[in-house]
Amino acid sequence: MKIVLSHLTKKFKSREKKGKVYTIAVNDFDVEIPDGKLIGLLGPSGCGKSTALNLISGLETPTEGKIFFGDEDVTKLPPEKRGVGLVFQNYALYPHLTVLDNILFPLENLKGAERPTKEEMLERAKEAARLVQIERLLDRKPNQLSGGQQQRVAIARALVKQPNVLLLDEPLSNLDARLRLETREEIRQLQVKTKVTTIFVTHDQDEAMSISDLIIVMKEGRAQQIGKPQDVYEDPVNLFVAKFLGTPPISVFDAEIRNGGLYIGTERVRDAKGLPEGKVIAAIRPEAFEPDPEGTLTLRPIRKETMGRDTSILAEHPACVTGTIRTIVDSDVPADTDAEALKFRIRMNKLFIFNAETEERIRFRDDPQGGRR
Ligand code: ATP
Repeated sequence: MKIVLSHLTKKFKSREKKGKVYTIAVNDFDVEIPDGKLIGLLGPSGCGKSTALNLISGLETPTEGKIFFGDEDVTKLPPEKRGVGLVFQNYALYPHLTVLDNILFPLENLKGAERPTKEEMLERAKEAARLVQIERLLDRKPNQLSGGQQQRVAIARALVKQPNVLLLDEPLSNLDARLRLETREEIRQLQVKTKVTTIFVTHDQDEAMSISDLIIVMKEGRAQQIGKPQDVYEDPVNLFVAKFLGTPPISVFDAEIRNGGLYIGTERVRDAKGLPEGKVIAAIRPEAFEPDPEGTLTLRPIRKETMGRDTSILAEHPACVTGTIRTIVDSDVPADTDAEALKFRIRMNKLFIFNAETEERIRFRDDPQGGRR
C-alpha cells in the first residue's frame, strides 16, 4: 500500500501555557511512501516522529493536510477502518491472557461480516505466530516470556489482521543491545516476507540505516530528506542531516570561500570555482581523512585509538566547531601521532559545504546533483 502524506500538520495546545499557544508537532510534512517498503522514520527526541505515526494510524487527527492510502483519502477514517497494525515500545500485552489469546484478541473483536470463523481465526493466529517464530510459546502468559519474545507477540498481534500498513514505534527500545540487533534483523526479514508497507520509528540512526529501504530524516516536525540510507549519508541536503547521520559524527569547521578556493584556516582545501565568496560551513566525514605529507589540511594529533577493525586518529583544529576530530584511517598508513602537526589528504566526495546562515547544502560544480528532499 502506497502512503501519501500531503502537507500534514498537527498542532497541540501547549500543555504549560494558557491561551492560544501551540506546539507544532508535525509541520507541513510532505512525503510519498512507496508500496511494500520498510521506511525508517528518524530524528531526535521531540521532532514529531510518534505524532506522525499516530496521524497515519488515525489515533490523532491532523490540524491540516491529508493522508492517502493508495488512492483513498483516509484522513477522516477511524483507526479500525484503516487496516493498520500498530506496535509500540511497551508491548501492551494482556497479562491474564495466553500468547495465543493475545494474538487472537484483535480478531475476536471484529464484528459482522469481517469476523472470521473460529477455525480461520486460529489458523491466522498460528500463521502470525509462525512468522515471528513464537509458535512454541502459544500457551504461555506474557510474564513467562523474555522482552524480545513479548515484542514478537506484539508484532504477531499486529499482523494477525493482515494489515495494509505496519507501524512500529520504537519497538526495540526496551531490549538489550544484542537482542536489539537480532530483533531488528528479524523485523527486516519479516517485512521482506510479508511485503507489508512498514514504517519504523526510531531515534537510533544505526537501526534505521541498517534495515530500511528508505529513511526519512525529521527535524522540528518537518521531513528534511527522504532516500536510501546510503544516499542520504553520502549526499545530505543540509547540515542537520549531515550531522545526524554517521558514527563517529562528521566534523564541522568554520570555513571560507575566497580566490576560487575553499579555505579552512589558512589552508586551501579544494577549489571552489564559480561559488560566491564568503563564510561557509565545511563538514568532513571521519573516513575522508588520509594521513599524507602532501595533504591539504593540517591537524594537531592527540592520539591513535584502535576499536575493533577501525583505527582512529583523534585530532584538533582551531576552526573545528564540533570539538575533537575523530578520523577513521587505514591502519597500514604511517602517521606520527606524537608530532605537533599532521597533514591529511581529504577525500573530496566526503567533504560538504553549507550556507553559513541557512545551513543548506552548497554544491561544488563537480558534485553530483542528488539529494532529494
Ligand atoms: P520521542 O523520540 O522523544 O518519542 P518524537 O519525535 O516521537 O519524540 P512526539 O512525541 O511526536 O516526538 O512529540 C513532538 C512534539 O509534540 C513534542 O514537543 C511534544 O512535547 C509535543 N506533543 C506530543 N503529543 C502532545 C500532546 N498530546 N499534547 C501536547 N503536546 C504534545
